[in-house]
Amino acid sequence: MNDQEISRSFSNHKEKIRCNGNLFIISAPSGAGKTTLCRAVLDDPIPDMLYSVSYTTRKPRKGEQNGIDYYFITENDFKNRIKNGQWAEWAEVYGNYYGTSSEFIDKVLASGRDILLDIDFQGTLQIFDQYHDSISIFIMPPSLDILKLRLESRGTDSKQIISRRIDAAEKEMKNKNFYRYVIINDKLSVAIDDLISIIEKYRTGRNTDIVK
Ligand code: 5GP
Repeated sequence: MNDQEISRSFSNHKEKIRCNGNLFIISAPSGAGKTTLCRAVLDDPIPDMLYSVSYTTRKPRKGEQNGIDYYFITENDFKNRIKNGQWAEWAEVYGNYYGTSSEFIDKVLASGRDILLDIDFQGTLQIFDQYHDSISIFIMPPSLDILKLRLESRGTDSKQIISRRIDAAEKEMKNKNFYRYVIINDKLSVAIDDLISIIEKYRTGRNTDIVK
């Protein structure tokens, strides 16, 4: 098979892939509870849902593990993978690169399993471009004031970083209407139920929404 044939067979393959597993995208401003919500879904109630571990050039934070929280790679490695077309999407966020492996997503979807991506808005637009039937969900804090309180009570960031995160949150929240679903994370247990019911709707084939 020459390169052209491989690429043609790969794109046919991709068309088929889209009929199989579901691709769920979750985005949220920092502090909106996205990690807790994703864990709640992955830990138990939804079987066969895989999480796409992103690649990043940022340094690991305390307690983060390679291959679980992220794959931590060098900027050189990241840029080579851009050249080789290995990312389904990638973005620069706060001066670091983040990317999602095409190969991983395609393999999981082809195997009929669902996949959850935790990515930002820039990445979401790229995924929309290639995986037209992906299901996007935006998690919102109840208000910016509550977000600020939550970030302060976490006690992990300085005042300056918190105010940067609040500014970023305000900008990110302006994009919420690009997402198919918006969940307001006011009471955690309600937000978890909302997320599970959205996911289950697609998994049981009861979805009647028109794909954007
Ligand atoms: P953090 O460094 O705090 O874990 O993540 C910073 C931001 O990068 C978050 O908004 C997160 O959703 C986003 N992010 C994490 N992984 C990816 C990825 O693979 N692609 C994109 N586009 N954004 C990502």
